[in-house]
Amino acid sequence: MAAQLIDGVAIARSVYGELKRRVSVVSQKGVRPGLAAILIGHDPASEVYVRNKTRACEEVGLNSEVHRFEADCGENDVIALIQRLNSDPRVHGILVQLPLPRQLEAEGILEAVHPDKDVDGFHWRNLGALVAGHVQFAPCTPLAVVTMLEHEGIAVEGRDAVVIGRSITVGKPVALMLITRGATVTVCHSRTVDLRAHTLRADILVAAAGRAGLVTGDMVKPGAVVIDVGINRLPDGKLVGDVDFESARQVASRITPVPGGVGRMTVAMLLANTITAAERAAESAG
Ligand code: NAD
Repeated sequence: MAAQLIDGVAIARSVYGELKRRVSVVSQKGVRPGLAAILIGHDPASEVYVRNKTRACEEVGLNSEVHRFEADCGENDVIALIQRLNSDPRVHGILVQLPLPRQLEAEGILEAVHPDKDVDGFHWRNLGALVAGHVQFAPCTPLAVVTMLEHEGIAVEGRDAVVIGRSITVGKPVALMLITRGATVTVCHSRTVDLRAHTLRADILVAAAGRAGLVTGDMVKPGAVVIDVGINRLPDGKLVGDVDFESARQVASRITPVPGGVGRMTVAMLLANTITAAERAAESAG
């Protein structure tokens, strides 16, 4: 029997209901949550992501603003804007849309964002807090993965989980969050010798490599839950994940589609983190 879909659009819709309620409560305290996005250059995918985030803000009732720079801008100009946003009381969350143009150093720019407004959870202080178990803002995509599992009532404790990808923004934090929830986690990456030998042991398989069709049905343990984080654009313009959906769905018990899976929930988690930042601001003002 084909796997049941884990529908990111439907889960995000139900999460939005709760987010709208939180926006209304915090707005009554005189604080309207606000998100500032910084977009550098004209990468078409980044343009789409920022547009989706702006639309989602409108839907849930957050203020949003987009600051644009040309691709050849100087790092100091970007950092100067971030510093201004850090002290703007109307802005509770700041996101710098990645990837950055090659000449810019991502680390310096991401670290300029004040950790209290780092709603993407990329600042080393927030990543470190995640390791220490004192989460201030969990990175949005990893948070989307664990929230989807939770929402669908999929047990994590005691299960074998395999994460493909070890990036600082997706693979590593997902692995940490699954460990925290009691899974036994294996992290695979580009130097892993026999990927299939690992994935076949996974009760929960998270693919975050950015390689279309990397995971095929013969690499999936029968009955496994497959979460596809990858977003890849094929030459014909089609968007696909890292998992070969048609073959994997014949073996898995649950599977996320691309598009309509983790991506939708990532945006919802960004809004959730921004609302949390606004709630903290309201609390410290009151
Ligand atoms: P990245 O390039 O920083 O990291 C990719 C990781 O995959 C690396 O650790 C690398 O070792 C590993 N890898 C690459 N090829 C591999 C292979 N053949 N076998 C095993 N491991 C391999 O990418 P990232 O930023 O972590 O993003 C990963 C994917 O997730 C991309 O497709 C990205 O577009 C997508 N993404 C989706 C969302 C979302 O909201 N759904 C958010 C962020 C990233």
